[in-house]
Amino acid sequence: MRILTFDIEDWWAYDYYKIGDKRDWLPRIDNYLDETLDLLDERNTKATFFILGKLAKDWPKVVTRITSRGHHIGCHSFSHKFWNNSTPKEVAEDTHKALDIIENITGKKVDAYRAPAFSVTEKNSWILSILAENGIEYDCSIFPSTRSYGGFPSYKTKLPSVIHINGTLIKEFPVVTASILGREVAYSGGGYFRMFPYWKIRSLVQENEYVMTYFHIKDFDKDQIRTYRSFEGESAISRYFKKYYGLKGNFSKFCKVVNNFDFISVEQADKMINWAQQPRIIL
Ligand SMILES: [Zn+2]
Repeated sequence: MRILTFDIEDWWAYDYYKIGDKRDWLPRIDNYLDETLDLLDERNTKATFFILGKLAKDWPKVVTRITSRGHHIGCHSFSHKFWNNSTPKEVAEDTHKALDIIENITGKKVDAYRAPAFSVTEKNSWILSILAENGIEYDCSIFPSTRSYGGFPSYKTKLPSVIHINGTLIKEFPVVTASILGREVAYSGGGYFRMFPYWKIRSLVQENEYVMTYFHIKDFDKDQIRTYRSFEGESAISRYFKKYYGLKGNFSKFCKVVNNFDFISVEQADKMINWAQQPRIIL
């Protein structure tokens, strides 16, 4: 099964990125959102959209534009804080705030979550029980390898799995990775999707039975304001490359993938999976 997901965020919300005047960025979330929704309608495809609570608060119409097309809505936290060094209180408060805002707009219980930057790790997997206690049934925050700001290399499977933690249960849909030149890379979204040529993406999507994608509108927005600066010890040139390489042709590459494969939402995937046969992970 191939699952289509998006993280819908106002990326100027990363205050620590210091990427200029917020007002310059405000309208940009609209770029490519309608094109994406139209494409999915043409293909009769439903996806899961993980919405940043702060964006939902400032731009509720972005959420209703997505729900009016019948897509599945998840939560991408309120603040987009990476959870690596956070406390349970912080995570619980952020989650309540985001769920309240999104649920008030949609009128429906939110049942899916993706942490900012896949920042659920071995050290803070207690986050999953906070999510379960708040009605989250599906988590999509685990990156089953190492990466900056997150990564769960000891996670025992790369397949949808049931996690048991602190007396709670949650269904996990991890991100998929492929081993390329000895390195585990997530090709199904972000920088690697932009970087790889279409033939490479096509063969990876074709050869894997389970594919979990993670797209952002900013990865399609070739005319976005670009900044050139170092970030948390990473050089400006490496940062620039990671953020903008391959932007120009990326939306048409995304359209090709959606046109050539059948994708479903997390909610649809849940109904197709026989969970009794999926791996059980005790944390
Ligand atoms: Zn994000």
